[in-house]
Amino acid sequence: MLTLDGSIGEGGGQILRTALSLSLITGQPFRLQRVRAHRPRPGLQRQHLASVEAAARVSGGHVSGATLGSTEVAFEPGPVRPGAYRLAVGTAGSATLVLQTILMPLVLAAGPSRLVLEGGTHNPWAPPFDFLAQAFLPLVARLGPRFGSRLERWGFYPAGGGRFEVEVLPAAEPLRRLEIGPRGALKASRVFGVAAGLPRAIAARSVETALGHLRLPQAYVDIREVASDGPGHALLIELLFEHLSAIVTGFGEKGVRPEEMATAAAEEAREFLDAGVPVGTHLADQLLLPLALAGGSFLTLAPTAHTSTNLGVVRRFLPVDLRCEPQGHGVWRVSCEAGHLAGRA
Ligand code: AMP
Repeated sequence: MLTLDGSIGEGGGQILRTALSLSLITGQPFRLQRVRAHRPRPGLQRQHLASVEAAARVSGGHVSGATLGSTEVAFEPGPVRPGAYRLAVGTAGSATLVLQTILMPLVLAAGPSRLVLEGGTHNPWAPPFDFLAQAFLPLVARLGPRFGSRLERWGFYPAGGGRFEVEVLPAAEPLRRLEIGPRGALKASRVFGVAAGLPRAIAARSVETALGHLRLPQAYVDIREVASDGPGHALLIELLFEHLSAIVTGFGEKGVRPEEMATAAAEEAREFLDAGVPVGTHLADQLLLPLALAGGSFLTLAPTAHTSTNLGVVRRFLPVDLRCEPQGHGVWRVSCEAGHLAGRA
C-alpha cells in the first residue's frame, strides 16, 4: 500500500482527489496521512468525504477512516464500473471537485456513464461548472472521449443546492496525445454577471468594473438573475480563442465589494491574455492527470503550489516523465513524453 503525506506542498484536498483518481486507474491502494494539513479546518470535510464515497461507489472499493474531520484515510479500489450515479455532497461543498475525482477513471472505463452531481456548482477555491463545461472538458475530449454537460440549478456557498449532469462516453480508440498547441487569436469574449437572491445591480457593478479594466474589443455582456437555494454572485470572464476557450471567475463574498472582486478577476484575466499561453494556472494543475495518462505538452504560466504538489502526487503513482520547465518570460512548458496509457484504448 502506497503511503502519502497530505501535508506536502499545497497540503489541500487535491492530494486526496488525485490519489483517489490514480488509485482507481491503476488499482493501487493507498493510505493518506495528515489529510489537508495546511487548511484552516484540516481533515476530511463533507466535500472530501463525498469524493471518497464517489470513488468507492464507482469501484466497489473499500475505505477506512472516512469520517468528518478524519486526518487519515485508506482506500483500496475495485474495478471501475461505468453507469448511472447520483452523487450528492450534502452541503455547499464543491460538486465539481467530486466530478474531478472520478472523471478520468470513468473516461477509461469499459462503457458510458451518466452522472448527476449535487452541491455547490460555483464555489470559491474550486472550478465553477462553466469552467468544466467550456474550458476543461473540451481539452480532455481531445484525448478521444466525448462529454455532455448541463447545469440544472446553480449552487452557491453557503446554501448549496446546485445540480448538474455530465455524460461520459469513453473513446473507442486508443487515447490521443494532449498536444495543446497555440491558443490562436481572441475571437470573442463574454463578461457574464450572475446574481441569485441579490439585486441585479450587484452583478452589473462587477461586470462594469471588469469591462473597464479589460477593455476587451466588443465583449458580449450578459447579466442574469438565477434561482438558487441561497444568495450568490459570480462573475465569469469567458475568452474564446481560435483553438480553445478559457474562463476566469470571480466569486462574490459577504463583506467584499463587487468592484474589488471584479478587479481581482480582471487582473487574473489580463495576466493570462498578456502571457499569450493557451493554458491558465487552474487548468494547468487539472490537466496534469490527463497529460500523464495520454502524454503530450502545453505552455502555461509559472506553476502554482497546486501544480507542483499535484505533479508530486502523480509521480508517486505513475512512472512517467512528467516535466514542468521554464521557457523564459514567465512561460513554462509542461510535458509528458510517454503517457502511462499511451496507445491503449
Ligand atoms: P484544493 O485547494 O486542493 O482543494 O484544490 C482546488 C482545485 O480547484 C484546484 O484544482 C484548483 O485549480 C481549482 N480551482 C480553484 N479556483 C478555481 C477557479 N477560479 N477556476 C478553476 N479552477 C479553480
